[in-house]
Amino acid sequence: MKKVLLPQKIHEDGLSVLQGRVEVIIAPDPSQDTVSRYIQDVDAVILRTTSTITRTMIYSAPNLQVISRTGVGVDNVDVQAATERGVIVCNLPAFNNVSVAEHTVALILSLAKAIIFLDGKTREANWSSRNCQKMVQLKGKMLGVIGFGAIGSSVADIMRKGFGMKVLAYDPYLEKSRGQTEACTFGSLEQLMSQSDVLSVHLPAKPETVGLLDERLLGMLRPSALLVNTSRGNVISEEFLVALLQEKRIAGAGLDVFADEPLSEDHPLLKLNNVVLTPHAAALTRECVVGAAVEAAKAVVDVLTGVTPKHIYNPDVMLRRQKST
Ligand code: NAD
Repeated sequence: MKKVLLPQKIHEDGLSVLQGRVEVIIAPDPSQDTVSRYIQDVDAVILRTTSTITRTMIYSAPNLQVISRTGVGVDNVDVQAATERGVIVCNLPAFNNVSVAEHTVALILSLAKAIIFLDGKTREANWSSRNCQKMVQLKGKMLGVIGFGAIGSSVADIMRKGFGMKVLAYDPYLEKSRGQTEACTFGSLEQLMSQSDVLSVHLPAKPETVGLLDERLLGMLRPSALLVNTSRGNVISEEFLVALLQEKRIAGAGLDVFADEPLSEDHPLLKLNNVVLTPHAAALTRECVVGAAVEAAKAVVDVLTGVTPKHIYNPDVMLRRQKST
């Protein structure tokens, strides 16, 4: 029977897809050391976000045929090594975009309406906190969206239609005409940084985007600006963002993703009260957790039984396989 490694457990409904078809091996913990040991004789891996599948791991697993991600991002897989070795990488594009867009909107609203601050004050019976003037209205304000893909464009849509925000977007890979159809304006990164009241980041992590929002660009944000990131922590210079927040050079940040996850107990972000933090949880709604587990498991069963899975991130591998049969 073929073997499938789960560095972290997936939802029972996903496990049911695998049951009786493959042997399921759940790693005792998702650490790199443990996954490196367990991957060596498996045929497939179903991968959430905590573990990373490295080149060394891929080359140490001669039977490995498929790595199936339970989300859209594949930055925790060495795709180049997988492609060289003929390992198919599957992901789930646009699968969790609704949940992540909703979470992004929740972070924006939480910051704009000072919900965490006011909740704390209300519990302390501090009624005069209502006069803190930390709350702002969003109608007519500028939402900057960096990365106008499935999630970024959904956030723009909700904030524009639901809250009357204006939208300025940056995405060099989209056709120019999209700007009109999406009822938003496209501009340069510099324009977005200096004109946004709320800046929402939706970039994939890849060499050109890692560290893209550096000291120079972040330094252009307005003192009243709110920054939200639900994409990947390493696309922003986190150290400089912390400094901006500590010095109150921006009004606040809502973050679901961080340069190093999980956050260390002494991380400076944890000491700030102008941030709202969530533990990379934007895509983990009940609906997504169940659906992603089922779809990622189906992709594994497909590859191991010779069926073409729905979403292949490195289609060259499939083409090479088909040519050789
Ligand atoms: P997507 O592929 O639909 O959109 C990404 C967009 O970024 C594309 O339109 C692309 O053209 C654009 N882009 C690429 N390089 C760029 C650059 N240098 N500058 C500006 N734009 C650039 O992906 P998506 O589904 O919208 O997801 C966006 C990111 O959100 C994912 O890559 C993933 O890392 C992250 N994500 C996080 C969670 C979470 O749980 N927090 C869940 C899902 C996705």
